[in-house]
Parts: sequence; structure tokens; C-alpha cells
Amino acid sequence: MLESVTMTKILDGRAMSRNIEKTLLRKVSNLALRPKLVIMQVGNKEESNTYIRHKITFAKRIGVAVWHKKYDEAVREESIVSDIKKYNRDNSMQGIIVQLPLPKRLSASRVLEVIQPDKDVDGLTSASVNALLRNESGFVSGATRAVMAILDREKVKVAGKKVVIVGRSTLVGIPTALALVNRNATVTICHEYTKNLAEETKRADILITAVGKPKLITKNHVAPRQIIIDIGITVVDGNRVTGDVDYDKVKDKVKAITPVPGGVGPITIACLFENLIEACAKKF
Ligand code: NAP
Repeated sequence: MLESVTMTKILDGRAMSRNIEKTLLRKVSNLALRPKLVIMQVGNKEESNTYIRHKITFAKRIGVAVWHKKYDEAVREESIVSDIKKYNRDNSMQGIIVQLPLPKRLSASRVLEVIQPDKDVDGLTSASVNALLRNESGFVSGATRAVMAILDREKVKVAGKKVVIVGRSTLVGIPTALALVNRNATVTICHEYTKNLAEETKRADILITAVGKPKLITKNHVAPRQIIIDIGITVVDGNRVTGDVDYDKVKDKVKAITPVPGGVGPITIACLFENLIEACAKKF
């Protein structure tokens, strides 16, 4: 348990992801049919290509088939919507992902809304979000599920803890806040208008960042008792991946911290496939 650790604990996301992978491999081998996921991508954004490559690699390792449907940048919204409707009807597919971001001229919310909730393994339709709002069962995004997985794994008692989340996007910050409120944490959400960020972040028992700004969180934003979960991913200097936390300067000043790379990212992918296998288990 973290409570008894005196040195900073580095929360190794790769090791956690490997553990989840082993469980999923066993679950997939016990299923009557091979699970299938469709990933729909518009354009050729390098970051999206990388995320999708990681998902496909993970899928192969656990025996899941992935259909990567790539559209030209100029595709009409109706074509994507019509394909989603087709995949909704296709019983051989249990999960549908629309890789975000979409080009600005397309409406992500309109497109996502067409996904049948029981195939919404990214947890992005309003049905999934409503379930989270009401603390009912439903799919939550891989990143939110990854945060919960880390806290569970470390046996952190979330109820009554002060959680500060930096970032309020509908994709990451808000769903993660809701999931933690559902676990009875006291949650503060910070954003660009937050007046004194360091004052807020230092109050946290658990500090979660989902911003996308390297080194936003410095040693002046943290306190020794804290668990830091860095969801941010930014590519700097062409190919180096970094989080929101100034990791080298912060890591010895807190109780536990996720590195980037090798922290939340690998767990997020594993959690996405946990969602998919749960979708299958309900069908097969
Ligand atoms: P986003 O939509 O751009 O949201 C960023 C949030 O950060 C906004 O709410 C923004 O506030 C806030 N923010 C920006 N500058 C700030 C500042 N100086 N102080 C406080 N708050 C500030 O991004 P997103 O989609 O949520 O993604 C966030 C990060 O998570 C990105 O790096 C993304 O790549 C990463 N991500 C990682 C995973 C994973 O598996 N690890 C999964 C998904 C996303 P306002 O609302 O006021 O503008």
C-alpha cells in the first residue's frame, strides 16, 4: 500500500498493462468467437497513426481482430455516419472507435452519437456519459478507466480524498472527475481560468493532469503526500513524448508518480480492450 512507502513510488504503467494483457488473453481464449473492433480514422495525422498502431499491436497480442478503416481527409460526414450504422448492425463487430480528433469541418459529437452504446468502447456517446453522470454502469474512456485502475492497484482509498484535476475536456478531465466523484472523492477541476493553479494543486491528495502542456506542473505545484497521475501526452523535439509534469524535478518530491512515457498511456490501451472484452462477454 502507498500509505507505508517513504520513497517516491514510480507507478509503472507498462507493467500494469502487461498484467491486464495476461488477463485479457485468457478471457479472449475462453470466448466462443474472436472479438472484433473497428477503428475509423479520417486523414493521416501522425499522432493518430501512432495511437492506432499501439492499439493494433495490443489487439494482436490478445487475439482481437481490428479493422482499421481509413478515410480520406475530404470524406463526407454522411459516409462515416452510414458506415457506423452498418457496423452497429454487424454482429461480428463488438466495438466501434472513431479516432479523434476529426477534422474541424466534421462534427465529432454528431458522428460519435451514431455509435450504438453497447459498442461504444471509448465511452464517448451521450448514453455512456449519462450513465457516468448517474453513477450507473456503462463504458468509460480508457484514460479514465486507467486512472481508476492505477488507484485500485495501489489500494488507494479514494472516498474522502481531495482530488485535483487539471483539465476539463469532455474527453478526459470531466469524465475522470465524474468517475472520482462517484467514488466519493472531493474533486476540484482546474482550467485555464484557474487563478492560482499551484495553490489549488498543492491542496490535493491525488493530483491528475490532463492538459497537454509540458512542464505545466513544477515542483512548486506539488506536496510530499501526493499521488501524481499525469495523463498528458505531448510530442516534443519531433519524436520525444512528454507529460504535463516536470517529471525530473517533481519525482522526488511526492509519494507516487506516473512517468510519461510508460505511465497512463499503456494502461489506457489495455483498458480500452477491457471495455471491448466486456462488450463481447455480454454478447457471446
Ligand atoms: P484538451 O481538450 O486540449 O483540454 C485541455 C484542458 O487543459 C482544457 O480544459 C484547458 O482549459 C486546460 N488547460 C490548458 N492550459 C491550462 C493551464 N495553463 N492551466 C490549467 N489548465 C489548462 O485536451 P484533452 O483531449 O483533454 O487531452 C489532454 C491531454 O491528455 C493531452 O496531452 C492528450 O494527448 C492527453 N491524453 C492522454 C491519454 C492517455 O492515454 N494518457 C488519453 C487521452 C488524452 P480550458 O478548458 O479553460 O481551455
